Amino acid sequence: MDFTLTAHQATLRDRAAAFVDGVCIPLELEAELNGGKVSAVSQQRVVDGAIAAGIVGAGHLREHGGAELSMVEQVIVQEELGRNTNAIWWLAPGAYNVLGLGTAEQVDRYLRPALRGELADAYAVTEREAGSDAAGIEGTALRQSDGSFRIVAEKWFVTTGDVADVFIVMVNVIDGDARLPTLFLVDRTTAGITFLDDPPFTHTYPHGHPTIAFDCTVTEQAVLGGPGNVGRGDALQNMWFVEERIHIAARCVGAMRRLLSESVQWTTGRSQGGARLFDHQGISFPLADSAADCAAARLLTYHVAQLMDDGADGKLVHGKAAMAKLFASEAANRCADRAVQAFGGRGYMRTTAAERLWRELRVDRIWEGTSEIQRLITARGLERRGVERMLSL
Ligand SMILES: Cc1cc2nc3c(=O)[nH]c(=O)nc-3n(C[C@H](O)[C@H](O)[C@H](O)COP(=O)(O)OP(=O)(O)OC[C@H]3O[C@@H](n4cnc5c(N)ncnc54)[C@H](O)[C@@H]3O)c2cc1C
Repeated sequence: MDFTLTAHQATLRDRAAAFVDGVCIPLELEAELNGGKVSAVSQQRVVDGAIAAGIVGAGHLREHGGAELSMVEQVIVQEELGRNTNAIWWLAPGAYNVLGLGTAEQVDRYLRPALRGELADAYAVTEREAGSDAAGIEGTALRQSDGSFRIVAEKWFVTTGDVADVFIVMVNVIDGDARLPTLFLVDRTTAGITFLDDPPFTHTYPHGHPTIAFDCTVTEQAVLGGPGNVGRGDALQNMWFVEERIHIAARCVGAMRRLLSESVQWTTGRSQGGARLFDHQGISFPLADSAADCAAARLLTYHVAQLMDDGADGKLVHGKAAMAKLFASEAANRCADRAVQAFGGRGYMRTTAAERLWRELRVDRIWEGTSEIQRLITARGLERRGVERMLSL
């Protein structure tokens, strides 16, 4: 119940905040005006800054090169990262959490280099006809007579796919009539990978989200976690979704903090009609609503992170993580809209952080499960876990 940060947690927050304020935020305009890209020198500053801050590989084990942070500690870091526009922090080393479940050989080959900043990964689940309904994917892996698998799939919106060295690809292994969801690790250099499209998106981020066709052959050692994990793809993926949804909620909280602090600073410093903007209740009341949105999202996010650290029932955590992502992402979009209004015409300029967040936060209601899917999960939780457990503290 006590959400006071320990001395260790406060130090971690300060290190993450210093990285965001000192390294990431100063690069935002360079990125915004250059299609999301920053110079190689700036990129290296991000890598070095994140390593120095001790936030690389947050959830990964120390023995794998990670920081082995608890979920509450990860939320503390993600909240700070959320204050940054243009996702400059993406340029820091990192790896999807499922890579930690790889075999010893996969950890050596992919995870350790990723956490050193020498390799990038991308996660490919979504397909043309399977988005919200991820179970509806049509991508397949067919076992060949020599034990290898032929993967045939077309994946959409593969974030960082334009620069990734390895793709974590979700397909169904065909076993008679059975379809066994399985995650494969596919090297970019594998023959049979075709980049079909790299469409422009609303935000101005460092990397793209290309559409990629796979028609390639990999050995059974490419199954994430080893051949014994054929058919375990859904379970592994759900772990990723839950953690990622908590991270998104935390970043939305950070974004709301930045929107509020910039809006309060601007509206208390500018006068129109003989009074400070802030003294017009039409301006300050929406900011009060934003403060309530941010505080509520923050409490819910820390609550679910703490539950996860306490080893609570995974299904309850799943339901509450959905609520946190739903509320925080919708709240952050409301806050961004109010901030743009408080800035007036300047709020419509791409050089204003509120404008960038107004565009960038939109995707948080879509990726890692849309708001509607979070509502579905929450509603199911109400029925299956019960109202009191879903609302428990
Ligand atoms: C910028 C960006 C980056 C992404 N990165 C990745 C990535 O790295 N890897 C990856 O695999 N995917 C990625 N995605 C894909 C993302 O996860 C999907 O876009 C998302 O899950 C929604 O799927 P869809 O786009 O096919 O929409 P659809 O599933 O077609 O949904 C369209 C609308 O219908 C609603 N809807 C659908 N089903 C239901 C239902 N049962 N009940 C009520 N409403 C429903 C949805 O909420 C939505 O509003 C990314 C997407 C974007 C935009």
